[in-house]
Amino acid sequence: MAKQEDVFKKVVSHAKEYGFIFPSSEIYDGLSAIYDYGQNGAELKNNIKQYWWKAMVQLNENIVGIDSAIFMHPTIWKASGHVDAFNDPLIDNKDSKKRFRADVLVEDYCAKIEDKENKEIEKAAKRFGDAFDKAEFVATNPRVLEYRAKREAILSRLAKSLEKEDLADVKALIEELEIADPDTGSKNWTEVRQFNLMFGTKLGASADSATDLYLRPETAQGIFVNYLNVQKTSRHKLPFGIAQIGKAFRNEIVARQFIFRMREFEQMEMQYFVPPGTELEFYENWKKTRLNWHLALGLGEENYRFHDHEKLAHYANAAADIEFNFPFGFKELEGIHSRTDFDLSAHEKFSGRKIQYFDPERNENYVPYVVETSVGLDRLFLAIFSHCLKDEVLEDGSERTVLSLPPALAPVKAAILPLVKKDGLPEFADKIFNDLKFDFNVIFEEKDSIGKRYRRQDAIGTPFCITVDHDSLNDNTVTLRYRDTMEQERVPVSELRRIIDEKVNFRTLLSKI
Ligand code: ATP
Repeated sequence: MAKQEDVFKKVVSHAKEYGFIFPSSEIYDGLSAIYDYGQNGAELKNNIKQYWWKAMVQLNENIVGIDSAIFMHPTIWKASGHVDAFNDPLIDNKDSKKRFRADVLVEDYCAKIEDKENKEIEKAAKRFGDAFDKAEFVATNPRVLEYRAKREAILSRLAKSLEKEDLADVKALIEELEIADPDTGSKNWTEVRQFNLMFGTKLGASADSATDLYLRPETAQGIFVNYLNVQKTSRHKLPFGIAQIGKAFRNEIVARQFIFRMREFEQMEMQYFVPPGTELEFYENWKKTRLNWHLALGLGEENYRFHDHEKLAHYANAAADIEFNFPFGFKELEGIHSRTDFDLSAHEKFSGRKIQYFDPERNENYVPYVVETSVGLDRLFLAIFSHCLKDEVLEDGSERTVLSLPPALAPVKAAILPLVKKDGLPEFADKIFNDLKFDFNVIFEEKDSIGKRYRRQDAIGTPFCITVDHDSLNDNTVTLRYRDTMEQERVPVSELRRIIDEKVNFRTLLSKI
């Protein structure tokens, strides 16, 4: 099996080679942790957005979507707590001059202990075969118990120190565990300091009158400050939700994992407004609904897990992440948070406006509670892209690289390929192209051998290739090739739209949720 780092390298290079993702400003040597989406990446990203938007806004009678501005009144970030508390603990290595997140250094240390734990379990599973009882082994094996206790003690100390803002203790923990710079092995660390992740900018032309602004670090606040407008104009009763897709900006300290952690990224967030006291029930429901949404993509149930937060953010009374098995291990993909009435109450206080809901059933006014689902679009892109990228050895010993994307998400739905560039075949293929283009994103390709053209389409995840040959001119049929099985069948041109649609339309995907 290929090593994880090799898999990840292949993902990055394939993304670039096939027009999915380019380093931003590349001809100027790029900009750290900023990426551009190319012709195929933009299509895939738009399709992922559609899948999310349709599942949220179209399928739920009580969820509406908005698009709020990136620039927002600066007091919003005071009210939300971002000015005072949106910090990460930073530490520098004095020898390598490299910067790290102190909490991540400790978490990575614990992840290594967890790897050892898993190896023990794997070894035992092999030894005992069918008779292996994992739950029993994990609960009783002294080594596993020791690893687990050590990990839990470290993480709990880290959580407590961060909560108390005791940064000296975070440094002490790093020293006690003898954590070294992963690249150079140096243990020569600076003190730990807090670093605010928001980007500042200015609004207005003259230096004296300009207002200091922040680029939004999350899209959620755009929803909160529009709660009253949307509730009044949509006339929805609680519970109801507001969804939004948009850019967010964070000056991340360490951003070295391609599009997993970027400084400019996109979020897809939905805030669900509910009566106080009902929030935990809705929270549990949204956890299930969101996991099912991910599972419908067919990337394998074993690649997802929940991680319930022990340390809760200042605004939450329950929180969990959906983690995905990325090429570098299980990491957060989506957050589901029960945010109480923290945000709306804070905006009431800071704006001086009443942000309340009159509940006709309870016959009272109150500030709604909120359950949030928040997924990073780029992270989701990476999850799907990296999982679907496969090298296959075929029966005849040859190899192919295939991107087995869920058909509804594929950038190109079908490629129309005349076998040769003469005898009227391109004209015949062109007619098919001009018919299908109204329903699907299709392409026409006549360069190179048919085998090479098939491989190129496999590599960008095109579910169908339609080959036009001399017989087509006589009997109006074409060869339809399926990406995943590589099977080919002869079909009438008149059937193409129906066959493609059945496979690639969003209905097929959405009805699996
Ligand atoms: P992390 O712990 O990985 O920094 P977070 O808990 O700060 O993430 P949230 O504030 O809950 O993230 O944001 C919601 C979602 O936005 C995350 O689950 C993730 O998918 C995405 N996200 C957050 N930060 C980034 C980033 N720098 N680059 C890409 N996606 C991000």
